Amino acid sequence: MSGRHLVMGGGGFLGSHLCDQLLARGDQVVCVDDFSTGRRSNVAHLGEHPGFTLVEADVSVELPVEGMVTGVFHLASPASPPDYLARPLQTLAVGSEGTRRGLELAHRHGARFLLASTSEVYGDPEVHPQTESYWGNVNPVGPRSVYDEAKRFAEALTMAHRRTLGTDAAVARIFNTYGPRLRPDDGRVVSNFLLQAMQGEPLTVYGDGSQTRSLCYVDDEVRGLIALFDSDLSGPVNVGNPDEYTVLQLAHTVVELLGSSSTIVHLPLPADDPTRRRPDITLASDALGWWPTTALEVGLARTAAYLAEDAGVTAPTRPTAGGAGADDSARE
Ligand code: UDP
Repeated sequence: MSGRHLVMGGGGFLGSHLCDQLLARGDQVVCVDDFSTGRRSNVAHLGEHPGFTLVEADVSVELPVEGMVTGVFHLASPASPPDYLARPLQTLAVGSEGTRRGLELAHRHGARFLLASTSEVYGDPEVHPQTESYWGNVNPVGPRSVYDEAKRFAEALTMAHRRTLGTDAAVARIFNTYGPRLRPDDGRVVSNFLLQAMQGEPLTVYGDGSQTRSLCYVDDEVRGLIALFDSDLSGPVNVGNPDEYTVLQLAHTVVELLGSSSTIVHLPLPADDPTRRRPDITLASDALGWWPTTALEVGLARTAAYLAEDAGVTAPTRPTAGGAGADDSARE
């Protein structure tokens, strides 16, 4: 049965892809964004869609949504480290006040609420790979805490709402996600490396590059979020790709994929940068029948094509989309 869903942060990288997938399956979408880190261009193509409504608002201040709502997805937050480090108070506000407003609205409407939480709740993890039962290792006062603790508070608030008021709420823990609509100036590793490789500039590896991340392509990620929303699980549920790479491996993969002449430079490691990260997705695969299907090279090629056009730089010379073979959607 189709619904009318609110997407908080629907103008962002992940949020706009969620709007697309919900509309594609026949849901109506009310997108709320203040475009502080999201972009109008991410949802410009939906402007004429009869099922799409755009509300410009800061959800930590107000949630001016009219009419019945059947679902609330809370994806409103800066997510890139440079973005949240530049907006520490806003990040804490959207994780706390924004989450409270979303939960209260969902409760009033009897709607299902889905919180986009993060692998950052695990901090610099002592358990590897990370299972949902691990409580994490977070510095509560370091610079990253504005994001990590905002999301941890948001999880606590979501679960308290569920327990005390019976709000139908769930928590997804999102691991590093990449794909088209990453801003060229986003500052995360995939957009940085792809743009640097396309421009022949050195790839900026922070630290010695031995830290690991597990990268999920955006279409897979959003499919996982919707699967959790459609279920009756409360979570938390890890939604991420368990294929783990060192940052240095990723740099070499990008250079090779694009046939780039770029070299690698090492820059200082940011404070509290997690040394490793990989989701255990047993729960998502067993309970939701969800797992990622997009091979890294396929996702990187699509992201490179997007960034090349967005940033107006030379398109990659060695397209390999479809060549990795592990991706059904690549054969569209
Ligand atoms: N990183 C890097 N070079 C960059 C950007 C990021 O080496 O230009 C590293 C960063 O230190 C981290 C990893 O890549 O270890 C992922 O960083 P990102 O900002 O994408 O996300 P995070 O997982 O830190 O939230």
